[in-house]
Amino acid sequence: MNRVAAFRSTPYVTKYGDKTAHDIPQVESRAMTMRTRFAPSPTGHLHIGHAYAALAVEAEAKRLGARVTLRIEDIDATRCKPEFTEAMLDDLRWLGFHWDNLVVQSDRLDRYAEVIAQLAAEGLAYRCFCTRKEVQAAATKMGPEGPIYPGTCRDLDPEKATARAETEPFGWRLNHHAAMDRVGPLTWRDFSGAEYQAQPELLGDILLASRDRPASYHLAVVVDDADGHISHIVRGQDLWLATHVHRLLQAALDLPEPVYHHHVLLIDETGRKLSKSHGSLTLQALRQGGMSAEQLRDDLTNHRFPAGIRLQSA
Ligand SMILES: [Zn+2]
Repeated sequence: MNRVAAFRSTPYVTKYGDKTAHDIPQVESRAMTMRTRFAPSPTGHLHIGHAYAALAVEAEAKRLGARVTLRIEDIDATRCKPEFTEAMLDDLRWLGFHWDNLVVQSDRLDRYAEVIAQLAAEGLAYRCFCTRKEVQAAATKMGPEGPIYPGTCRDLDPEKATARAETEPFGWRLNHHAAMDRVGPLTWRDFSGAEYQAQPELLGDILLASRDRPASYHLAVVVDDADGHISHIVRGQDLWLATHVHRLLQAALDLPEPVYHHHVLLIDETGRKLSKSHGSLTLQALRQGGMSAEQLRDDLTNHRFPAGIRLQSA
C-alpha cells in the first residue's frame, strides 16, 4: 500500500460515500459563475498523465458549465524553466485544451508574502530556522509528505526570531494547533456531496514558505484558488491529503470554500505516478511520432494507455 492509500484509510465522515462524482449532478449554485482550473508545473514536458488530468478538468468544466483557469505553478525557480512553460502552452493548444484565463504564480509572490505576514500577525505562522536535515533528525512521526515537523521553532521568542532572521535563512510555518483552535472543526466536500472531516494534523505545521521558495505549494494554491474565484477544484488523488490542510488555510484566512474532485492517476509498472523520466510518453514525442490530438483524446477517454501504464485504481 502506498503512503497516500495508507492515509486514505483514516476514518472520515461521508454522507454519500457509495456514490461517485458522476452519479449526482452538481447543482450547488448555478447562479454563481463556476470556475475550475488546471495547474501544471513547468518542470519538464507534459506527458500523457498531464493530458489525462487536463481532460478530467475539461470534462468537469463541460458538465458544470464552468470557466477554466490555466495556472502555471512555477514558483520553484530551481526546477521550473520558462522554456517548459512555452512548450506546455504549445502542447495544451495542440491537445485542444481550452482555457479562459491564465495565471502565473511567479507573478504573485508579493501577494503570497502579504498573506504570510497576515498569518504571522495573527499568531498563526512562525519563522522556522531548521534545515531539512534537522527536521528529519528531530521528527518522530511520518506524514504523507515526509517527516512531520516536530515544532522545534514554534515557541521561539518572536523578538529573538526576528533578530535571528537578520543573519540566518528561514522559512515560515503554519501553527496548525493555533489555526485549528481559531477556526474549530472543519469539513470539506467533494463534487458528489460527500463530506470529509478535515484532519490538518495529518500534515502538521506545514511550510508556508521555505528557505529557497517564497511560497509553498499549499499556501500558493489556497491563495490562488480564492483570488481566482475557483469554485470547483479538479486535481489528482495524490493531493487528497493536502486538502485537509488547504481547508484549514482557507478557514484561517477567511476564504471561500471550494468543492473538490480528486481524479485517479496514471501510474507506471512500478506503481509510481508518471514523471519526467517517462520521456517517450511526452505529448511532444507522441506528436512527433505521428499521433493526432484526436487519437490521444480518444485513447485517454476510453482508457487505452501505452503498455505498462494504467489507472491507479484499476
Ligand atoms: Zn524550525
